Amino acid sequence: MTKHIFVTGGVVSSLGKGLTSASIGLLLEERGLRVRLQKLDPYLNVDPGTMSPYQHGEVYVLDDGTETDLDLGHYERFTHATLNKDCNYTTGKIYLSVIEKERRGDYKGKTVQVIPHVTDEIKSCIRKMVAPDVDVVITEIGGTVGDIEGMPYFEAIRQFALDVGKHNCLFVHLTLVPYLKAAGELKTKPTQRSVRDLREIGIQPDILICRTERDIPKDECEKIALFCNVERNAVIEEKDKEFSIYEVPLSLADNKLDELVVEKLALTQARPLDMSAWRTMLDRMRAPAHEVTIGFVGKYVKHRDAYKSVYESIDHAGIANNAKVRVVRIESDKLAEEGAAQALAGVDGLLVPGGFDKRGIEGKIDAIRFARETGLPFFGICLGLQCATIEFARNVAGLDGANSTEFDKVSPHPVVCLLEEQVNVTNLGGTQRLGAYPCHLVPGTKARAAYGVDVVSERHRHRYEVNNAYREKLSAAGLVFSGTSPSGDLVEAIELPNHPWFVAVQAHPEFLSKPTKSHPLFRDFVGASLARRLGKKPVAVVMK
Ligand code: GLN
Repeated sequence: MTKHIFVTGGVVSSLGKGLTSASIGLLLEERGLRVRLQKLDPYLNVDPGTMSPYQHGEVYVLDDGTETDLDLGHYERFTHATLNKDCNYTTGKIYLSVIEKERRGDYKGKTVQVIPHVTDEIKSCIRKMVAPDVDVVITEIGGTVGDIEGMPYFEAIRQFALDVGKHNCLFVHLTLVPYLKAAGELKTKPTQRSVRDLREIGIQPDILICRTERDIPKDECEKIALFCNVERNAVIEEKDKEFSIYEVPLSLADNKLDELVVEKLALTQARPLDMSAWRTMLDRMRAPAHEVTIGFVGKYVKHRDAYKSVYESIDHAGIANNAKVRVVRIESDKLAEEGAAQALAGVDGLLVPGGFDKRGIEGKIDAIRFARETGLPFFGICLGLQCATIEFARNVAGLDGANSTEFDKVSPHPVVCLLEEQVNVTNLGGTQRLGAYPCHLVPGTKARAAYGVDVVSERHRHRYEVNNAYREKLSAAGLVFSGTSPSGDLVEAIELPNHPWFVAVQAHPEFLSKPTKSHPLFRDFVGASLARRLGKKPVAVVMK
């Protein structure tokens, strides 16, 4: 029988419900349980694919091509759960389905209402997670209790617990216990209020996780328990982690969260907790032998969440290389003004991530030129590959004015152009080349050496590709196409042979990296950057 954990939030947003949900998932996996995670987002967009990175951070892509909330990235980095299109629902997606049913006449003449039709739809989305090989489903509700747009979700999970039996469900509520400097005290009232909001809807939380910057004194925990009608041992402190988000699961384990969950859901099959792999990873992270600096040239560098998975993957590569990685975030617009040599002075490697639209392109191209000419390790991702192709075409292959048709419709040398399947696409949402596709690697290349296998699968999110009409010219000038689609029609990876490490890929490898298992391309890129820093020849790192 699959059990359910619902994670809700109170007081303020951005408390880290995603991280907490992912951490619970990890703790349960490390107790031998099989988990699935799901996020329900109350906004009206059908998915975050059409949202600006400023609004909602990065768009995280799953194997099946679903464009999802970045919290699903945490789920995948922390656990081994298989995620698919059913793991992220928004109000837009739910209503779309309800309205389609209404148009088809599925409701047989009834008045279609939030309760029961929308709540039924939400409950059916939760039920989709249930499977014989899943012990626990963790469903995170986006937003904060009390938000108008979140109401149908809270109502739906309340009903859900009645449907499947209260003893099969656990309500975990994440709140904030702020410290008031003027009073010199931690304040529990916001937590009390948010639990009151929950209870008004008919949900009594079983476990309260209290985010705090200071230790919560015992008597304050007792007060929270009393006022919130929660057992004392179910008030769990989650103190801010200054060093790394990867410490969160350990601190929750220290506060016995896993025991509480196992006991309350009667997960009798659970084995004792074994966090040794996670601890080893954190120990490596805490005591790195080296330091390395990566220049990161992107358009949204002020917004940390815009490239969330890329930053995480760089950290993972640091762990694999026993190095602390310092990332210098450089705005591509600024780089064009300042000049690449100055902007990249002192960095040991250059990373150009994915992106859309013309702004900042020339700065990225200048940076890549500098890396190519000076032997600075370079890693290009998606748009980074396209910019590297444009730079090579212009400055090595002598194709003046080379560009992508995304940025210059009348370029004399459109070395990057629309994918054929994209030519007649007009809708923006969910219409790119999305999800996992295989890539065949060419023997003897750096990409092949990094992966260690001939065929890999990576997740994509793009509309443009290297123009096949220019492949011959570019390869004659020395560009190596080190990975292609199985038919050879689509360029998946490029590199330069006479350069310490210059590799770019069309896919997004950042979606497949874990702290305990760095993605091979990130690992070798950071390895090559470290080698440059230490004045050594780059060598492939083998993870134990
Ligand atoms: N804008 C480019 C394209 O659509 C690159 C996309 C990306 O970097 N994700 O192909």
